[in-house]
Amino acid sequence: MSSSGSFNSSKYFILSFHHFTAIIFHNKFFVLCVSCETVCKFPMSAISNSLSLKHGLSLRCPQTTHLLRYRNSSTSINFRTFQKRCYAAFANENREYVIVGGGNAAGYAARTFVEHGLADGRLCIVTKEAYAPYERPALTKAYLFPHDKKPARLPGFHTCVGSGGERQTPEWYQEKGIEMLYEDPVKNIDIEKQTLTTNSGKLLKYGSLIIATGCTASRFPEKIGGNLSGVHYIRDVADANALISSLEKAKKVVVVGGGYIGMEIAAAAVAWKLDTTIIFPDDRLLQRLFTPSLARRYEELYQKNGVKILKGVSIKNLEAGTNGHVAAVKLGDGSIVEADTVIVGIGSKPAVSPFEKVGLNTDVGGIQVDGQFRTSIPGIFAVGDVAAFPLKIYNRTARVEHVDHARRSAQHCVKALLSAQTHNYDYLPYFYSRVFEYEGSPRKVWWQFFGDNVGETVEIGNFDPKIATFWIESGKLKGVLLESGTPEEFQLLPKLARNQPAIDKAKLQNASSVEEALDIAQASFFVTSDYQLSSE
Ligand SMILES: Cc1cc2nc3c(=O)[nH]c(=O)nc-3n(C[C@H](O)[C@H](O)[C@H](O)COP(=O)(O)OP(=O)(O)OC[C@H]3O[C@@H](n4cnc5c(N)ncnc54)[C@H](O)[C@@H]3O)c2cc1C
Repeated sequence: MSSSGSFNSSKYFILSFHHFTAIIFHNKFFVLCVSCETVCKFPMSAISNSLSLKHGLSLRCPQTTHLLRYRNSSTSINFRTFQKRCYAAFANENREYVIVGGGNAAGYAARTFVEHGLADGRLCIVTKEAYAPYERPALTKAYLFPHDKKPARLPGFHTCVGSGGERQTPEWYQEKGIEMLYEDPVKNIDIEKQTLTTNSGKLLKYGSLIIATGCTASRFPEKIGGNLSGVHYIRDVADANALISSLEKAKKVVVVGGGYIGMEIAAAAVAWKLDTTIIFPDDRLLQRLFTPSLARRYEELYQKNGVKILKGVSIKNLEAGTNGHVAAVKLGDGSIVEADTVIVGIGSKPAVSPFEKVGLNTDVGGIQVDGQFRTSIPGIFAVGDVAAFPLKIYNRTARVEHVDHARRSAQHCVKALLSAQTHNYDYLPYFYSRVFEYEGSPRKVWWQFFGDNVGETVEIGNFDPKIATFWIESGKLKGVLLESGTPEEFQLLPKLARNQPAIDKAKLQNASSVEEALDIAQASFFVTSDYQLSSE
């Protein structure tokens, strides 16, 4: 219900929802909670208009403590005092903004709350892990370097160092007034009461909730040896530490899975000078992205670095030795590959529990959201790996398990929640990987991919070290992968993939170098007249 008018020649505007009445008067925002007779006053800048007005009420109703009693004589309330009181009120289990999950997306969301001046005393992050959010991709890259090759360790790679931002150590969260609940996963949600229950039994009331629970690693079933000692899955720092303890003693390592996680771990294992075999059922490495020709180049590079590759191979079970520790991998054809350490990198599943009731997507999994990361339940949002969102550029629903999306989705969601931002998320898929980057490696590899890997392909370059693959569909450039490019060349890729220029395939095929091919692609911007060049 709403009404407006003027009083003493000043405009007023009244909105009523459930047990709250909001009054905008003299450019100030007052909230009256009918059930506990409390009045709070906010400067307009502090109002999260998008949530309170567009998507349920984010301003919390202090059920047990009165933040501020309205007094006739006092119309001017110090906002800092109000914030401090809010912070103190954490003890009363009322939280204005709660993020569940303390990973990549949570770190970038926290930064955006801080940028809007709405973190201090208002934001709480509840996480399963013992660490403040960090750049997860490091775990299968520099974190796994041997001890003598300067491995990455926390606090070196807390968010947001991966994107050149300030390093958000645990102290950073403290300084910013963000409440962190570590090692206490959320076990239950009550949507009606707007409460969360944690593993330790804490009951948290939230105003707005952002679900950023990411994924969990897919596992081999116990009955085929998936839980044997010496068998590893890698998702967090604790997993990576356990793997490093194994690598310190290992002689023979088997990596199961030919995706990017398997490729990164195999590259790390040979840096430890371990007998390393990578096994996967597909006909090539990184089948979801690499063309057969590109995969062949990387397979040769891996073999040159000492990695044995068994492709097109299924696994029957993992076998234990007499000590109960994994001793071998038994393949579908009955043959055996000896191993004292097995790392399984066969994909991951969105961590939707306990949020299933928020609305799951049955096609791509995860929690369904709209272009502002709103779920179907007012006041509840989902971001990062767990969110099934409209991928506007290709007109389909997608879940993207890559760090760039985790960062951008978190930032977009929080801006929509806290500011007047109303435009929908318009993501351009981007993915990268880096391998063999340790000190003394004969060839460091860093590739980036932008766009959609659909249609025909053109590969240019001799892989010494540069190579590029262009995906072309209906005469338009849809996706580009580049390895060992210059910073300027990498910057061109999103522009190409975003704008999808019409491209002369024959001309591209005749390019004698990656540089020339990129010049041809860039020139196609200028001959394609029916679109506006947009930049990333
Ligand atoms: C080893 C590894 C290497 C990767 N390398 C790359 C790469 O090279 N390039 C790339 O683009 N992407 C890479 N990724 C993917 C990228 O890291 C993810 O896309 C990104 O971390 C997703 O961010 P998120 O916040 O959605 O989830 P996450 O970062 O996974 O964070 C989720 C957090 O939620 C916590 N959590 C889960 N359930 C609960 C609960 N019920 N209560 C409280 N907390 C909970 C988890 O413990 C975790 O801390 C990699 C991922 C992994 C695991």
